[in-house]
Amino acid sequence: MLLGVIADDMTGATDVALMLNRAGMYTIQVIGAPRPGAGLPRADAVVVALKSRTSPVAEAIADSLAACEALLAGGARQFLFKYCSTFDSTSAGNIGPVADALMARLGAEIAIICPAFPANGRSIYQGCLFVGAVPLHESSMKDHPLTPMRDSNLMRLMAAQTPAAVGHVDHAAVRAGAQAVQARLAALAAQRVRYAVTDAVTNEDLLVLGEAVAGHVLLTGGSGIAMGLPANFRAGGLLPERAVAARLQAPTGRAGILSGSCSTATRGQIEAARAAGYPALKLDPLALAAGRETAAGLADWALAQPAETPFLLYSSDDPAEVSRIQDDLGREAAGATVERAFAEIARRIVAGGVGRLLVAGGETSGAVVQGLGVETLEIGPEIDPGVPWTRVVGGPDLAIALKSGNFGSPDFFVKAWGLLR
Ligand code: ADP
Repeated sequence: MLLGVIADDMTGATDVALMLNRAGMYTIQVIGAPRPGAGLPRADAVVVALKSRTSPVAEAIADSLAACEALLAGGARQFLFKYCSTFDSTSAGNIGPVADALMARLGAEIAIICPAFPANGRSIYQGCLFVGAVPLHESSMKDHPLTPMRDSNLMRLMAAQTPAAVGHVDHAAVRAGAQAVQARLAALAAQRVRYAVTDAVTNEDLLVLGEAVAGHVLLTGGSGIAMGLPANFRAGGLLPERAVAARLQAPTGRAGILSGSCSTATRGQIEAARAAGYPALKLDPLALAAGRETAAGLADWALAQPAETPFLLYSSDDPAEVSRIQDDLGREAAGATVERAFAEIARRIVAGGVGRLLVAGGETSGAVVQGLGVETLEIGPEIDPGVPWTRVVGGPDLAIALKSGNFGSPDFFVKAWGLLR
């Protein structure tokens, strides 16, 4: 392994894994901190997906260090602590405390702070983070329920979360190229500055920064900073030229779709799948809660459908209907009933021969992955921005794509199969 990534949430992990895969690194995503002693599969890059963005600080540090140990044991030479491109955190953390712990464990002298991803509208200038045309603290992130961002200055944001000194590499240095950035970083390190916020307003800036930090053991930032890293490994003769596979080799088993997402995008995708003639059945949360409908019965229905066409089992509904169900069962109980059903259905249909599975909904995906006991995913081709096909490693023989609610074009459920062989 060349690169080990510790990501503070699941979708962020997929995002960076896709970035690395696209840049020619064979990448594996591991769900949760690996157990001590559990070996990691061989890959150019391993991304560990944690849920540490908003967990208690001590837990976030412990999980991140456990991930770091597993990646060290797997031979990683360089580490990226991946957080959100909007620097989602509070003055208590978790970015600062986790970065401090990783710095100490890895013996890093200085680490960059670079959540920039200009192509997605996240840029850094004079150390301030912009979301599109507005500073972070004027973007919708100012009202985030868990991590409201009320400042845009990354030096100040980081300084509130760490006792270490935080410096800045300005855009003039980045424009001047990798050597100028290296000189600036060395000067900061000599002044005992431990973190350096790096300006980046174009993708080219990210490539310069990537080249400049080739010798750093620890980097921190968003998925954008990963863009320039594969070239360093290639230049060092460590990474062979790899063509990115346009298609994923999938098991021959039958295909199905499970959807617990009620987002507008998903509901449109369900309509498109129905219009394409996919056999479809809607779960009834009230009947499930009352035991009039069972996961076993629903799985039996799915497996009884003609094998040539993907089947669709969904609970997705419009907001009025969802509120009616929530009024009846309670919001949490309604969600838990549906998630439990999907986890059990997934187990049964995979045991019954499903080898290709699309899952819609972030929480639903979590429930399905847990239900199937999936821990490791090989990253494959991107179906739509942010959503790759993956193949389960060391678990059931399965190609699976996990789509969070609002992702994907209207024909997502129909076109995804074309990327499998
Ligand atoms: P998204 O990614 O679109 O937010 P999630 O799967 O994360 O989708 O969240 C959807 C939540 O709504 C899940 O907890 C799911 O169990 C629940 N849910 C799905 N369908 C219904 C329904 N018909 N009534 C009530 N809750 C539902």
